[in-house]
Order: sequence, then C-alpha cells, then structure tokens
Amino acid sequence: MKENNNSKNNYFIIDASGFINGFKPYGKNNFSVSEITEEIKDLKSKLSLEEAISSGNLKISDVSDESLNELKKIIEKSGDTLRLSNPDIKLLALALELKDKNPIVVTDDYTIQNTLKILDIQFKPIINKGIDTIYNWKKVCMGCKKEYLNSYKFDDCEICGSKVYKKRIKL
Ligand SMILES: [Zn+2]
Repeated sequence: MKENNNSKNNYFIIDASGFINGFKPYGKNNFSVSEITEEIKDLKSKLSLEEAISSGNLKISDVSDESLNELKKIIEKSGDTLRLSNPDIKLLALALELKDKNPIVVTDDYTIQNTLKILDIQFKPIINKGIDTIYNWKKVCMGCKKEYLNSYKFDDCEICGSKVYKKRIKL
C-alpha cells in the first residue's frame, strides 16, 4: 500500500539526472549512491551535489550484495540489463532496499523509470513527463508467465504463486 506522507518525511532517492536537471534536496531523507558522481560532469551539478552532501541534506548509501543480486535477477527478466549503467543499477538496488519506506526516485532516465515500474516503486521526473505515453504495461507471472489483466489486484500468481510483475509492452 502506498501512503501519501507529507513531502518532508518522504524518502527521495536521487539519480544523476535529478541533479543535472536541478533537483534541490529538501527534508532529511535524501539518498543516493557514490557511483552517481561518475555521471555528473558539469560544474554546476557537481557543486550542487557536493553542497547537498556537505550540508547533510544528502546521504550517500552503500548497497548490500543481496539487494544487488535481487535487482539483477529482475532486470535480466525485463531485458533492461544492457541499457542500465553500473551507477543506475546501484541506485535501483538502493531503491529496492528502501522499498518499505515508499521512496520516490527522482530521475529523468527512461530506462530507470521502466525498471521502477516493474519494481512498483514511485518516481518523479524533473523535466520529462514520464513514460506513460510511450509504453503500456501488462501484468505477467514471473514463474509460469501467465498474463493477467491490469485490474488483477493480487501480487501473487493464482496458478503457481510466483510474483506477478508489470511488464512493458511497446505500443
Ligand atoms: Zn504463475
């Protein structure tokens, strides 16, 4: 169940594109991974990243091997493995690790957004409008591949009990 907490208490996970496109962290629950510094090249974004870290507004987190492995299994199935960079994968694994906090991932990267949809984690684009107009989704069982209507409201497959996830389909 998603809760609509007020924004001060929300957990934000910020991707490199979030910084590059001008997201300013507020509140105290802002997280990212150290690898995003590799993707931030321009001076202005670098300074805003460093300022956020030194002021304590942004926490750089480590990601456990368990989360990384769990994420890798999921993206191998969705076919997004090749389009995701190492920093992207770390960031998504962090999102998975914080999933019980209902985090919002700040990103303009479509591949990251696609993966977040599969993980059922919220995201917030800064510039782009998001991908709803580009892709559709269907629900598919991870185990037996049975397809469900989008209105199917359970997380588990009624046939084999595996997790049902949202799969991207091209229009
Ligand atoms: Zn199944």
